[in-house]
Amino acid sequence: MYCPYCRHTDSRVVDSRLTDDGTAIRRRRQCAACGRRFSTAETTSLNVLKRSGVAEPFSRAKVINGVRKACQGRPVTDDDLAMLAQEVEEAVRSSGAAEINAREVGLAILAPLQRLDEVAYLRFASVYQDFESLKDFESAIAKLRAERDTRPVGHQRPLGAH
Ligand SMILES: [Zn+2]
Repeated sequence: MYCPYCRHTDSRVVDSRLTDDGTAIRRRRQCAACGRRFSTAETTSLNVLKRSGVAEPFSRAKVINGVRKACQGRPVTDDDLAMLAQEVEEAVRSSGAAEINAREVGLAILAPLQRLDEVAYLRFASVYQDFESLKDFESAIAKLRAERDTRPVGHQRPLGAH
């Protein structure tokens, strides 16, 4: 890390915080030679720990692949999926942890997917939450209905809008 003023390589971190979108850390540094201050943005790495114990870098593409199957035949566009993946990434990064369980990624998918498409949500939830019987589906559907009834009318997506 060079000082942008005098090219000195040694600097001290005086402040660091997560950027608003949660994908990077912004640091204020002070040059050890000339004393001037400058900012750097460093992308934070985020690893996902799989059930097998293998850790791999978080990837939006993997989130999309995981959800795409549940969205087959549904009115869900690639843009919808890209926005969902972004929302999931922001949610899992907001904790600030460098490593999370794959299960937490799945949990972070449920809420935005429910807003996107209820059928796709049910499909995804049935696999992810190990639905074992019709009863599990029934209670998930009952929950969806209850939430829909309490949702303010203004928040409902108009029919046919896409
Ligand atoms: Zn300097």
